[in-house]
Amino acid sequence: MKAMEKIHLTGLTKDDLTEFVKNMGEPSFRAAQIFKGLQNRRLRSFDEMTDLPKAFREKLSAAATASTLKVESRYVSEDGTRRFLMKTHDNLPVETVYIPTENRDTICFSSQSGCPLKCDFCLTAKLGLLRNLTAGEIVEQIIIVLNDVYGVGVETPHGTNLVGMGAGEPFLNYENLIKALGIMSAEEGLFIVPNRVTISTAGIVPKIREFARLENRPHLAISLSAPNDELRDKLMPINKRWNIEELFAAAKEFQASLRRGERFTFEYVLLGGVNDSDEHARKLANLLNRYGLERVKINLIPHNSAEPLEYRPSAPEQVDRFKDILESKGVFAYIRRPRGRDIYAACGQLAAKDSPNLVQITT
Ligand code: SF4
Repeated sequence: MKAMEKIHLTGLTKDDLTEFVKNMGEPSFRAAQIFKGLQNRRLRSFDEMTDLPKAFREKLSAAATASTLKVESRYVSEDGTRRFLMKTHDNLPVETVYIPTENRDTICFSSQSGCPLKCDFCLTAKLGLLRNLTAGEIVEQIIIVLNDVYGVGVETPHGTNLVGMGAGEPFLNYENLIKALGIMSAEEGLFIVPNRVTISTAGIVPKIREFARLENRPHLAISLSAPNDELRDKLMPINKRWNIEELFAAAKEFQASLRRGERFTFEYVLLGGVNDSDEHARKLANLLNRYGLERVKINLIPHNSAEPLEYRPSAPEQVDRFKDILESKGVFAYIRRPRGRDIYAACGQLAAKDSPNLVQITT
């Protein structure tokens, strides 16, 4: 049986696994053992699960698999950021980025191979959509990164934050995304609770509404990048499907679902000479104020220029001015410093590229 025909157990919930072992004629406690082996000990083969009888491990290997992604290359930036270029069983690219900071680690995962949306400033857009990733492929990205950073099964010293901001539009792969997040939140597994997760959307309005209604939901970021429809149509063509008015109506609804002290985020990629003028900043603040979006923060992201994109980053003084104008109008803004720029790991740069100027470490 080929790997792709086998069931990928990393993408099964505990209940799914219980059903699976029952169908194999095994007692249900085996499901708990497998779940722990995959999600807590972060094992990627059944052979390593020595708490299972050998005969059962062999039976498992014949019917199922614990790993489907293969790390093709891994790049380490001078700032400690690591970019992993992986391949699925059907040879499609998946990129994942690890960003260390002093008190926490952040892993930026992909939800699709490529992306169907055509944001003009994004390298991933050039790939088009190759396919949605399965829940197992989403979870496996995190397991691979944690094992690489800390060693197989070694407990992480502090919590892991996840951001769904890698390749793809997460809300166009909603079911698999939500399933993966559910699997990763389990206490006896990776134990990455929704409060540590942020999902970023380019503005799939019906899914923003659905997401708002989730009982135990992660945080939300909406990529905006323009203060009016004319410019947003050009930069993010999804705006022609759901324009700013529709997007903000959904954002307003989402605001009503915020927990005490929680804010949600608008991301604004600053493109030099395109959307970063003082006038753009004023219009943006007015827009937020007009819709009564007070519990929002704006993440300003200086664009990471990379060929063949023709955009250039905003001047650092203009980034500061943009922030000051927003704040003078009562809008909370934060400048996100780019990480891993030298290895094409930064926002909008994920396009299965080799990094020319760094030593490549292949695992
Ligand atoms: S910015 Fe995000 S949504 Fe837009 S094309 Fe790139 S990956 Fe897709």
